Amino acid sequence: MPSAEPLVVIAGRVLDVSTGEVLTDRALVIDGDRVRDVVEAGAAPQGRTIDLSGRTVLPGMIDCHAHLIGEMDDGQGYAYLLTRSSAQEALTGVTNARATLLGGFTTVRDVGTFHAFVDLALRDAIEEGRLVGPRMMCAGAYVTSPGGGGDITGLPPDVPVPSELRMGVSTGPDQVRANVKRIFEAGADFIKVIATGAVLTSGTNPGEPELTEEEIRAAVEEAEARGTHVAAHAHGAEGAKRAIRAGVRSIEHGCLIDDETIDLMLERGTYLVCDMFDGDWMIQEGPRLGYSDEVMRKTEMTNDAQRENFAKAVKAGVRIAFGTDSGIYPHGMNARNLAFHVRFGQTPMEAIRSATLGAAELLGWDDRVGSLRPGLFADLIAVDGDPLDDVTVLEDVPFVMKGGQVVKG
Ligand SMILES: [Zn+2]
Repeated sequence: MPSAEPLVVIAGRVLDVSTGEVLTDRALVIDGDRVRDVVEAGAAPQGRTIDLSGRTVLPGMIDCHAHLIGEMDDGQGYAYLLTRSSAQEALTGVTNARATLLGGFTTVRDVGTFHAFVDLALRDAIEEGRLVGPRMMCAGAYVTSPGGGGDITGLPPDVPVPSELRMGVSTGPDQVRANVKRIFEAGADFIKVIATGAVLTSGTNPGEPELTEEEIRAAVEEAEARGTHVAAHAHGAEGAKRAIRAGVRSIEHGCLIDDETIDLMLERGTYLVCDMFDGDWMIQEGPRLGYSDEVMRKTEMTNDAQRENFAKAVKAGVRIAFGTDSGIYPHGMNARNLAFHVRFGQTPMEAIRSATLGAAELLGWDDRVGSLRPGLFADLIAVDGDPLDDVTVLEDVPFVMKGGQVVKG
């Protein structure tokens, strides 16, 4: 519904992430929660005005691999989650969501929580305006093999784990299908499968596949029947290849992939999402945080390899989307990962695109977020300095607007 008087944001520079151009002296005309138009500053209509003429304006950033639920990772596995209630977990989301939004991320794809469906409650509370946070696309739970990277491990075999912590634990395509249906019925937006072992889940090996191609395909079929997609956690090449062949939309981490995996990704149009900043965080902060020797060892095994593979994938032309594994490091520092995209082969504009329009395309949400086209949500940020010269200016975002509302600045 166009209101009589629009909100006018005067922008010194606007990054057009669709064309890669920088537009100068523009006005963004905002009606309610949507962008109505981007015009020459001189042609702006009358209305309430926000002056960002000294700043660079760009779409709100998108993190395709966030975990807004839970305390920051302590690198000792996930058995402690038996001592945590869903309510306690949910309340961590309140501060994590706020920090993420104030860090310039107006949308996240939340790729899973062990306490099933807590992410969905956070998403809905933000949507209802009860809490300040980014728009969330949510996985609801992890689809994983018993004892796999998305299961609760590290407990004695006779200690039962409550079913709400094992909602997606599955053996065989039929059980995958049944669990995926249950996860969608609860309100999830997409499905996260754990195709290989994980760095932070004790007793699992990142190099080893944990689901069969048939199991992953069952999840993909159920997701596609609902018009959505599957994201696959995959470090090792074999697990990643099974996931790509089964039709997942993105490979998360991709630390130990090989040339054949990259070829398959190109052939299938699969996205690669690489969390690289958190590797530095884990190596630097892990010992202080009390990380187990096992987690430190697996971090060292995957960290440099991931960066090499990211560089190879960029060079080969694989679709890249931005994701950070927030929760390993403190929420709000998500933009630190941009510098790694640049260090390992992307131009600053490509890195920014991977965290805006490219990310929105991965989510299938480019009709609502990711650029400043008319009709999309008025989700935007402004920074001092030139992010095309130095992407690290995006690590400190002084102005954030979500849905036409100023949340910072
Ligand atoms: Zn993750």
